[in-house]
Amino acid sequence: MHRVLIAAEIQNLLEPAQLENLDITWLATADPTPRGDWVAIVPLLTRWVGGTELKNLPNLRIVANVAVGYNNVDLVAAEMRGVLVTNTPGVLTEATADLTWALILATARRLVEGVDLVRSGQWTGWHPEQLLGLELHGRTLGLFGAGRIGQAVGRRAPAFGLRVLYAARSAKPEFERDTGAMRVDTSRLLAESDIVSLHVPATPETKGIINAESLARMKGGAILINTSRGDLVREEALAAALARGHIGAAGLDVYTEEPTIHPRLLAAPRTVLLPHIGSATVETRRKMAGIALANVQAVLNGKAPLTPVYS
Ligand code: NAP
Repeated sequence: MHRVLIAAEIQNLLEPAQLENLDITWLATADPTPRGDWVAIVPLLTRWVGGTELKNLPNLRIVANVAVGYNNVDLVAAEMRGVLVTNTPGVLTEATADLTWALILATARRLVEGVDLVRSGQWTGWHPEQLLGLELHGRTLGLFGAGRIGQAVGRRAPAFGLRVLYAARSAKPEFERDTGAMRVDTSRLLAESDIVSLHVPATPETKGIINAESLARMKGGAILINTSRGDLVREEALAAALARGHIGAAGLDVYTEEPTIHPRLLAAPRTVLLPHIGSATVETRRKMAGIALANVQAVLNGKAPLTPVYS
C-alpha cells in the first residue's frame, strides 16, 4: 500500500477502483500540509506546495494537482527534488468556456442588475431605455491567450456574430480557419476589442498584465472577462477604471487573494463576480479528480504520468 495525501473535498467524486492499493490520508483544505513519509499528494489549487512542503515530504514522488493551472506548485523546487507534477488539462475546457460565455452574456446584457431590480420589487414595467446593454452581433471579442480554453471560447463566438481577435505566442491556423479569428499583438487586441477575455496561465510574465496602463489602452466602455487566474489583473486598477466608466463592465471568476475580493472591486459598478466555478460541473469535476488519481496510480506503478506539467 502506498501512503498518499488526498484533498478531502474530492472524496465524493472518486470511485473505489481509483483508490486501489492506496493508504489514504484525507487532507481538508483548512489542514496544513503535514510532515511525513507520504509518496503522493493530490492537492486542490488552494494548497500551496512549495519548498517547505516538499522538504517536509521527503519521500514524495508526485504532486497531482486537481486543476489545469498549477501556479500553486513551486515547479522549480519540485523538479530540483525529482518530484513529478501533473495537472488536469482538457477535461475542463468546455465547462470553463461555457462559464466564460455566461459572464460575457451576463455583463453585456446586465443580467445581475436586472435580477436585482426584479427581486427588490422596484421594477415598474417595460421601459425603452431600461438596462440597455451591449449588442454582441458585429462586435469584437479579443482572446488574450488561445490555448484549449481560449479557443473553445472563440469557437462559440461566430454563433453570436462576433469577430474574433487573439493574442498568443504562436499562431493557431486551424482555429483561424474554423472561426475566422485573426492573430494580433496585445496592443491591437486591447485597442480593438469590445470584450477582452483572459485565457493565459498565471506566470511571472503574465502577472498583472491587466493594469492601469493596459486598461487605459482598452476601448472606452469595453468589457473585461477573467476566468483564468486572479493574478493576471491588478484589481484596484480595474475597480478604478470601472468607477470612471472607462471599462464598461467586468465579469470575473477568479481573484488575486481568493476567497477575499478587493473591497473596491466589490463596490465597483457593473461587475459580475463569481466564486471560481469555471470547471464546476459534475462531469468535469469527476474527470478532474479521476485524472489526478490516474496520474498517482501510474507513477506509483512505475509508469509515466498521463498529464505531466514538465517532462
Ligand atoms: P493552455 O491550453 O495551456 O492555454 C494557455 C494559452 O496561453 C496558450 O495559448 C499559450 O500560448 C498562452 N500563453 C501563455 N503564456 C503567454 C504569454 N506570456 N503571452 C501570451 N500568451 C501566452 O491552458 P488552458 O487549458 O486553456 O487553461 C488556461 C488557464 O485557465 C489555466 O492556466 C488556468 O489557470 C485557467 N483555468 C481556470 C478555470 C476556472 O475555474 N476559472 C478552469 C480551468 C482553467 P501558446 O499556445 O502560444 O503557447
